Amino acid sequence: MRTPLRRVVAAAAGAVTAAGLSFTAAPSAGATTATTTAGAAITTAGTAPAATSHAPTGRAASGRDSLFPGQGTDAYDVRHYDVALDYAKAGTISATTTVRATAARPLPRIDLDLEGLTVRSVSVDGRDATWSRTGTKLHVVPRATVHGDFTVVVRYGGRPVTHIDPDGAKDGWVPTADGATVLSEPVGAQTWFPDNNTPADKASFRVAVTVPAGTEVAGNGVLSGESTRAGRTTWTWVQREPMATYLAMISIGQYDVYRSSLRLADGRTIPVTSFIDPDLGSQAAARAQIAPAVRFLERHFGPYPFSSVGIVASRIKVGYALETQTRPFFDGPVDTSTLVHELAHQWYGDSVTPADWGDIWLNEGFATYAEWWWQEAHGGQTRAEAFAKAYATAADDELWGPAPADLHDPALLFSDAVYTRGAMTLEALRHRIGSAAFDEVLQRWATTKEYRSTDTDAFVALAERVSGQRLDGFFDTWLYTPGKPARP
Ligand code: ZN
Repeated sequence: MRTPLRRVVAAAAGAVTAAGLSFTAAPSAGATTATTTAGAAITTAGTAPAATSHAPTGRAASGRDSLFPGQGTDAYDVRHYDVALDYAKAGTISATTTVRATAARPLPRIDLDLEGLTVRSVSVDGRDATWSRTGTKLHVVPRATVHGDFTVVVRYGGRPVTHIDPDGAKDGWVPTADGATVLSEPVGAQTWFPDNNTPADKASFRVAVTVPAGTEVAGNGVLSGESTRAGRTTWTWVQREPMATYLAMISIGQYDVYRSSLRLADGRTIPVTSFIDPDLGSQAAARAQIAPAVRFLERHFGPYPFSSVGIVASRIKVGYALETQTRPFFDGPVDTSTLVHELAHQWYGDSVTPADWGDIWLNEGFATYAEWWWQEAHGGQTRAEAFAKAYATAADDELWGPAPADLHDPALLFSDAVYTRGAMTLEALRHRIGSAAFDEVLQRWATTKEYRSTDTDAFVALAERVSGQRLDGFFDTWLYTPGKPARP
């Protein structure tokens, strides 16, 4: 269970000040920190409130996810997944996943998440291990207790299942007319490889998928090899930067592959590799927006965190797009706002990842805010207008149901309460601390938490440190208190 921010303080501070503040208004305290430029150290300890007194929340407190308590474990830390998967036209797979991990304490048993499929053998550190399965857990018993670094190799196969989410959405392995696509938010990754299936544990990946020659395979990161032998082609994708299991994607099918490159703000040139289902045409307009969108986001969020980019577009009828790492997936034609949303997730969600699903507003609030910002910069409504429009929503609307960081129902993971009110929280924060401090908070969030799993408390602490203001009351109202907040 989540410990809310200090509610007693919140009650006093909760009645937010009168309307009419301008977005350029200097904050009421810590004005010197508010104007700090990018890169300068924010170490104004004297003005920083005692943010560290916030109780730890979510996973950090209990070791279990607040919304998906059965998922994953903190008993060990995965460093690397190597997935070698053979796909047969009939829709079955035969695969070997190697998990390299570290246990901080002695482990007589290693629990992995795996849903469906048939396990054929398991070894630990090169020696055969015994295993059993209960629900979506694969319990591995090594010959000897593991401690420190260890390696588990699981051989398995069969016809992967599709996971159905609490909200009824399809998740995990989704068969299609010409192959299959995996989109694994929040828990579907366990339908195609055994894993520590929690966003609290990120790792590097190498995924090698072998398919009939003439079929394409999209994946995360850099395409490090594509080789054909005896009518079978192996596509090898390498994701060196840490990735949460839910962001791991493969898409097997008939694709047109478009390759180009992109120069980032810091001078790096990275490959742009996109996979477009020919049924959708070439998606030339959307592909042409990747570079300007990345440059726009770099300007506001800081350096692009990965070493490749691209998109995958195919109509698979899941009804959502997903920010699969380096290569977001679109379920049909790609519109600019959704493109900006999924690319913004590369900073917020993919590089900076909530350790607990209860903190998903750190993904969706930020990505929705990026859409607002893009619209403002391209002749559309301003962020303030987007906020005002959302704020006009009637008080009994479900937008004001649960607060963004106070979810208790996993079916509400992708609700307006998370997306829209999450973005509103950021706009209200800009209103409260001023644009200069706000911009600084967003950039520092991306850089200081790069590649990590983190939580809302860390974000609150950063906003307090950068602004020099005490913001627990503000965040308690916007993030933890159900119902429509008073007008900021
Ligand atoms: Zn999103």
